[in-house]
Amino acid sequence: MSETVPAPEHLTPHDLVTYFRCPHEMELQHAEHRHHVTGAPFAPITPAHVAALRHSPLLGPPMGSVTVVDGRLDLDDGDTLVYLDDEEGLPILFPPERVRLDPRFTTRPRNLIDAALGFAGRPDYVIERRDGALVPVEYKSTHLFVGFHEVHGRAFDVLQAIAECRLVEAAFGRRPPMGFVLYGDAAGGGLHEGFVQVRYGEAESHWLAYALATIRADAVRAPVPSDRTCPHCAPNRLGLCAYAATKFDSSALHPPPPSSGLAAQ
Ligand code: SF4
Repeated sequence: MSETVPAPEHLTPHDLVTYFRCPHEMELQHAEHRHHVTGAPFAPITPAHVAALRHSPLLGPPMGSVTVVDGRLDLDDGDTLVYLDDEEGLPILFPPERVRLDPRFTTRPRNLIDAALGFAGRPDYVIERRDGALVPVEYKSTHLFVGFHEVHGRAFDVLQAIAECRLVEAAFGRRPPMGFVLYGDAAGGGLHEGFVQVRYGEAESHWLAYALATIRADAVRAPVPSDRTCPHCAPNRLGLCAYAATKFDSSALHPPPPSSGLAAQ
């Protein structure tokens, strides 16, 4: 009798970001999705009364080769747009004559899939540069370009760029040398506009494999309560978390303007 090997748990770049913040938040989102899609009881795997953690067990991505650039993304006339997510609100980076979308990824949901890693997701853009290199771009409309020069930078954005490089590599069959995270700052008049360039080398791809393995091996998915993150947590809004440090803050859905000095997270 042949035995079937269970498929690895489906994960996305968003899952990586969420797990890096709070493993329990990711687990609650998965349990809620399973319940919604299959009708199965809402049953997160986290044991009852588990001890909360101070930090996620996931170590951060390599940050040593991240380059921070103040100012506009340096697109040139030889660059073309080969992939565009259908998410609303993305700025137009290319004139129509330089948009040559790959027909494999023009029907919804436009997911880039890595079947080997059980990983899928959608960058906002994929640019083919003049030299033929593919580069994914993640656009952050509400994240101001502040804090990246601090010691820890924005590890959340770096890990997302690494994940999107891997998805482009799997879906297009060509390895990107780097990914970009673009900070638009539409509300700030360009004052905080900038981007980061994240190298995608051996260290980064090894970190991604480690991250996916860590998440899948974690049968606890412990909470990491924090006054900083719990007020913005979607499962907390639904009343699903028994460990929340504070109640969900609905005003976080409408962050204050940049002049208030409060940066959106
Ligand atoms: S409310 Fe806080 S502890 Fe609970 S899942 Fe959300 S981030 Fe984690």
